[in-house]
Amino acid sequence: MDFTALQETMRTTYGPSFDYDLVQRAYAFAKESHEGQIRKSGEEFISHPLAVAALLVQRKLDAATIAAAILHDVAEDSPYTKKDVEARFGPEVAFLVEGVTKLRHIRYAEAVNRTNELPRAATLKGEPRAATERIENLRKMVLAFAEDIRVVLIKLMDRLHNMETIAFLKPDAQKRIALETIEIYAPLASRLGMGELKGQLEDLAFPVVYPNEYRELQNRIADTLEERRSFVSRLIPAIRELLERDSIRVLDINARAKHWYSLWKKLQRSEGNVERIYDLVAVRIVVDSIEHCYGALGVIHGEFPPLPGRIKDYIALPKPNGYRSLHTTIVGPEGKITEIQIRTVEMHHEDEEGIAAHWAYKEGRHTTKPLQKARELAWVRQLRDWMKQFQDEREFLESLRIDFFKDRIFVFTPKGEVIDLPQGATPIDFAYHIHSEIGDRAMGAKTNGRMIALDAELQSGDVVEILTQKKKKPSPKWLDFVKTSEARRHIQVALRRS
Ligand code: MN
Repeated sequence: MDFTALQETMRTTYGPSFDYDLVQRAYAFAKESHEGQIRKSGEEFISHPLAVAALLVQRKLDAATIAAAILHDVAEDSPYTKKDVEARFGPEVAFLVEGVTKLRHIRYAEAVNRTNELPRAATLKGEPRAATERIENLRKMVLAFAEDIRVVLIKLMDRLHNMETIAFLKPDAQKRIALETIEIYAPLASRLGMGELKGQLEDLAFPVVYPNEYRELQNRIADTLEERRSFVSRLIPAIRELLERDSIRVLDINARAKHWYSLWKKLQRSEGNVERIYDLVAVRIVVDSIEHCYGALGVIHGEFPPLPGRIKDYIALPKPNGYRSLHTTIVGPEGKITEIQIRTVEMHHEDEEGIAAHWAYKEGRHTTKPLQKARELAWVRQLRDWMKQFQDEREFLESLRIDFFKDRIFVFTPKGEVIDLPQGATPIDFAYHIHSEIGDRAMGAKTNGRMIALDAELQSGDVVEILTQKKKKPSPKWLDFVKTSEARRHIQVALRRS
């Protein structure tokens, strides 16, 4: 990817009021600051931020986001700092760049205590609850650190491009990054409704993390896959004709092979019977209105009987991440069973792009206010439910900035485990959260290796260490500054005891 190619795409994507100059200046600055840096692939470093920017142009993000994508590695990998970026490109771009930089400090492998050991495929299913919770905390932490949904989008595209070029890295780095992709970034993409991106990320990571299982799966389903593909290619014209005879305009109809990783997961759930995976190759129909979605379903059922219990109306009842479509599984010609998915253009676009679709740049509207529209979206409602324990509804509605976590901070134990605490929490709150005995015996605390007062405010990202002394007792003064009821309760109990 070079800048001329990117400019070309931008010109066909955006109108005249797009801030091309900002992007151009970002490029000049990034090129200079990465001068001489070479990627492991042998390409000039600048090709990477440009590729990330191109992925975001494809999704029509605003100029600030494109500029930030081009600059996203500047602060970290070159002598320039956040201040330099801010002086040249203003606070918005600097804020986005800094957000991406901050996300780098979430050390996934350490946080789930997997520095030396990758999970084995066999244990995936029965993963201990604690580990699952820690991973879930990390996903929330990514959102909390990002503060702005555009930061997450830059990070996801950064990850997508890094996964596409992962073969150039050392094997252990490949494993670490791929596993993080499967457990943190793909689920995030999914939560944000970006179904296509989720599938892409997983399928890039799958052969790296589980190479044997991947090969095995490919061999095992090769024949079935081939057979289904050819069957569906015969079914498609038949369905098209059927619908058009009924005056339902078909905007698109195609065969859709299931992504490898999600197929593998599904096989694990269905005791490995490929024959019973009816969406191995599904037919996807795009029509022009919701009415015609239901109309098409009726016409198809009139010709091919549906399997009972497999008609799913995700239009009336969208999936948690906002996914909408009608699904049915029919007994087709030759008695072959196939899944059919019916949707409108809008649903299709939303399924592919999710949240990114609502951030898309609109000509002549400089201050992006996608909120009004986004407010009604199912995925937003869902995201909100997902984070209910952390956030207040009114605050959420005030801004699309991710301030769900405004009242929470995320800190690390020395072992890298993520602990989530209320804003303003002190080392004493942290200590009691770890264990009541650690709280009772706390005599000092360090963050990031430096001593701090026991009533100091912890900051997101701090690595907190508590120094204890056997005979130490809690001080009544602690009650004046602790933030968690957990700490307060333990202190009162200990004071009564002594
Ligand atoms: Mn990068």
